Amino acid sequence: MLIREALKEKPDGMIARAYRFAECAHRGQRRKTGDPYFTHAVAVAETLMDWRLDETSVVAGLLHDVVEDTGITLENIRSVFGDETATLIDGMTKLGRLKYRGAAATAENLRKLIFALSEDLRVIFIKLADRRHNMQTLHALPRETQKRIAQETEEIYAPIAYRLGMQNVSGELRDIAFPYLFPLEHRWLMRVLPDYRAARLRYLREVKPLIESDLREQRIAPSAIDFRTKRVSSLYQKLKQNDMDMGKIYDLVAIRIIVNSIEECYAALGIIHKRWPPLPGRIKDFIAMPKPNGYRSLHTTVIGPEGMYIEVQIRTQEMHEENENGIAAHWAYKQFGAGASSASRITKEIQLVQELRRWLDVHPAASGSGERDLKEFLRAMKVDFFKDRIFTISPHGDVIDLPQGATPVDFAYHIHSDVGNTCVGARVNDSIVPLNHRLESGDVVKIITQKQKLPSEDWVRFVKTSLARHHIKSALRKKGGIVSKRKPLQAELRVIARDRVGLFRDITAIIARSHINIVQVHTANQPKSGFVSIKILCDTADPSKVERLILKLKRLPEIKEIRSQAV
Ligand code: MN
Repeated sequence: MLIREALKEKPDGMIARAYRFAECAHRGQRRKTGDPYFTHAVAVAETLMDWRLDETSVVAGLLHDVVEDTGITLENIRSVFGDETATLIDGMTKLGRLKYRGAAATAENLRKLIFALSEDLRVIFIKLADRRHNMQTLHALPRETQKRIAQETEEIYAPIAYRLGMQNVSGELRDIAFPYLFPLEHRWLMRVLPDYRAARLRYLREVKPLIESDLREQRIAPSAIDFRTKRVSSLYQKLKQNDMDMGKIYDLVAIRIIVNSIEECYAALGIIHKRWPPLPGRIKDFIAMPKPNGYRSLHTTVIGPEGMYIEVQIRTQEMHEENENGIAAHWAYKQFGAGASSASRITKEIQLVQELRRWLDVHPAASGSGERDLKEFLRAMKVDFFKDRIFTISPHGDVIDLPQGATPVDFAYHIHSDVGNTCVGARVNDSIVPLNHRLESGDVVKIITQKQKLPSEDWVRFVKTSLARHHIKSALRKKGGIVSKRKPLQAELRVIARDRVGLFRDITAIIARSHINIVQVHTANQPKSGFVSIKILCDTADPSKVERLILKLKRLPEIKEIRSQAV
């Protein structure tokens, strides 16, 4: 949909106001393509309109780069366009701070983080629309940047879109990324693919009237029978599993039949199987058993005229739209209140949400009735996901995952123990905070360090991670005398002796007569040498007491060496 139509429809509406506001704010700025920057904002907004998202999403799409790239603040936006728009833009700004460095482990984390930071799923929709246009104009950027952005799209954004059931965007993003990531493979495919595709299309066009007449005979009037060509990026994945042999890809082009009800889906499947025998094991009922991302359709491969395989996909219009646009399609239905919310839709919603949960590896809370508003539902679900974790960001854009309540000191130790030990202050989103400040998801944290500094004992009381606690304690222990005022409570004796029967009993007897209790003992025989090493932890650290004990022990002729250490 074009934004011009929306402006004509409501010349004084929110969208028109946002349009003028963004146009003015971006005036004079240009994209790397040479186009005015504002064209990007419009492209993003138009994508969101195509997904039939609500007005606020479109408004936020128009304004999404205003705070980041112009002098306008989030507060300006809030006062002109309200809280909801401001929240969406703030979410976009937070996501903009993230950087992906190409490690698989970070990819998983980053995908979770994106969900965590997007308190409203519409932020993700806007981000996907933004990424879509940035990919469409990627050719204008330097080669190195192209690769990085294409990889990020492939590993972060396309999977997110897929998981939200937005198959269309996901596939489109992958297709645009493909030539940047695999230039040689892409060139090869572009050379060989057209002939194969043309041959398949010719064949299927001959077959199509047969299907039409069979369906008509059974009083099924499909709203469309068309051809679905496999996307280049997914074709390449499939070729890799099939010896790069194009002849083995049966679904290079598939016939897609859109009918009017679920009953008709199954009826159509039967009709097709009556004309051509199905290939065993290739009938897939994704209506009874939808894919994890919510995809629903019937698939079958039949042996057509001249023994050639035909892949057929059968679905309703509603399924088709949901398959293409996933959660965004649900959102649109809700927004425009199209028809009453059918039982199947609610079931599907719950199922989508459950799958999303499973993907994010979080256990579902007790679920309530399906009547809740989707928006509320998703919001509540997201709160659940990350109840006890926060995701903070380093100035370089690295994501540090911490428990709720974590402080800058925890953050510093997660960067490096040296950073923790020498940390003297912290900046969170550009303001200085005390070291016991509670961090929140999305905070950008910069640690201020000072050489030769040592951790303070107080830190132990407020840090939330055991990593930080461990490092603080060991740093304090190392500098024991200087920093820690705590007196050592125990002494550890390390004894090296020639072993004999009864030696251990004699040692413990001497310790007992000195009125010292043994806390812990560890002995280790030195193989072949006949020596034994004994570690004894005693319940006193009193130096004179320990000294006297050592003298007594040394009277045993077998003992060669004793060292002691207060701990
Ligand atoms: Mn943008």
